[in-house]
Amino acid sequence: MHKYSCWFQSIENPDYKYNIDEVIYRCPKTGSLLEVEHDLDELKKETPKYWKNLFDLRYRKQSWPYGSGVWGKKEWVVPFIEDKNIVSMYEGGTNLFWADKYGKQVGVEDLWIKMCGNSHTGSFKDLGMTVLVSAVKQLISNGKEIRALACASTGDTSAALSAYCASAGLKSIVFLPKNKVSIAQLVQPLANGATVVSLDTDFDGCMKIVQEVCRRQQIYLANSINSLRIEGQKTISIELCQQFDWQIPDWVIIPGGNLGNISALGKGFLMLKEMGLISKLPRLVCAQAENANPLYQSFLNDFEIFNPVLAKTTLANAIQIGDPVSVNKAIKILKVFDGIVEQANEDELATASAKVDLTGTFNCPHTGVAITAFEKLVKKNIIKKSDKVVIISTAHGLKFVDFKINYHLEQLQGISNQFSNHPIEVEADPDKVMKVLEDNIL
Ligand SMILES: *Cc1c(COP(=O)(O)O)cnc(C)c1O
Repeated sequence: MHKYSCWFQSIENPDYKYNIDEVIYRCPKTGSLLEVEHDLDELKKETPKYWKNLFDLRYRKQSWPYGSGVWGKKEWVVPFIEDKNIVSMYEGGTNLFWADKYGKQVGVEDLWIKMCGNSHTGSFKDLGMTVLVSAVKQLISNGKEIRALACASTGDTSAALSAYCASAGLKSIVFLPKNKVSIAQLVQPLANGATVVSLDTDFDGCMKIVQEVCRRQQIYLANSINSLRIEGQKTISIELCQQFDWQIPDWVIIPGGNLGNISALGKGFLMLKEMGLISKLPRLVCAQAENANPLYQSFLNDFEIFNPVLAKTTLANAIQIGDPVSVNKAIKILKVFDGIVEQANEDELATASAKVDLTGTFNCPHTGVAITAFEKLVKKNIIKKSDKVVIISTAHGLKFVDFKINYHLEQLQGISNQFSNHPIEVEADPDKVMKVLEDNIL
């Protein structure tokens, strides 16, 4: 038996608890989302210092699987999984990039970008998927019959699911909205051998289909409605504090679509505080694309009402979601963290992404949304120049080369071209080449 335990619990009524090895996504009694709860009394038998030391000792070391940013915190994440069932690809441990050059431009010098896209499949989705796929392996080894894992995806979830399933020898099925994901996002699940089903609908439509399919067959649902994923993603906050030597930033800004990650980020900070590893909480900002901004609209009404919207096309396609599954968790978290929701239109997000690339990143359009939110809050003087700020970069820019190249070739409709940069064609003649170089840089 493992020493630490966790279980599923209704987010509406803490009396409704379910075993962690049940295949269950919502509370059968209330219909609400579930979350994983931990036996904190047992965890608290060790001191904050003990946990900090343990996490630091394991961090990015080679003793498998504890060098992983997720599994190095296993006791706080999913202690019930036996090591032999863990499917890990050394996720987490991502660079906390000191954005000093860009920070100087804005006047906020204590500015950091957490590069969660520098990961196995190129997005933070790996953090949750390693937990979910490992949990399924554990269930199968306990005798449960699960034939395949499935998800609806705007791209990155399917890449993570198919890679972890391929590594585990499990079957994966992904439902993608036709013509709405990038080439890189389509090719990853194909390469990893997933069954890729392209549906003539949007993400919200794919989400409905996958839930129906999973109800009918022994197919396990891998979307972030599944609270096991949130436990893995929660390690972003723990790792962030660890990288700051257990100091807490004043602000953390994250782009949000289905709103699992903002919920996870908050859950991680709350656990750190409850366990005594940190003494205060940061403020959280959720950044949405104006074309898919149901949470922003709700924020304008102090979260008193929430209405799903029909998401319009956005360059930030991973957050093109009008009816976010985790909205209730996200609102709960934002209230606790004195949270703010900001939005970015298409021009703002593309310009912000290009502007920051000029200081050395290669960031994705969702990161552009978060950067826009950051600049808006600095302008409003809500974020102060002396504040310590972390922007969560959710995916690697190389997954979005079509967005990048179209920006630089000025082929995006309605987008200004302040920072675009195109190749210069010159004859292969040294004099002509020197002339061009003199005109441009010398
Ligand atoms: C999934 C994803 C998001 C949104 O995360 P949610 O948990 O759905 O809010 C943001 N950026 C990228 C790159 C993603 O893949």
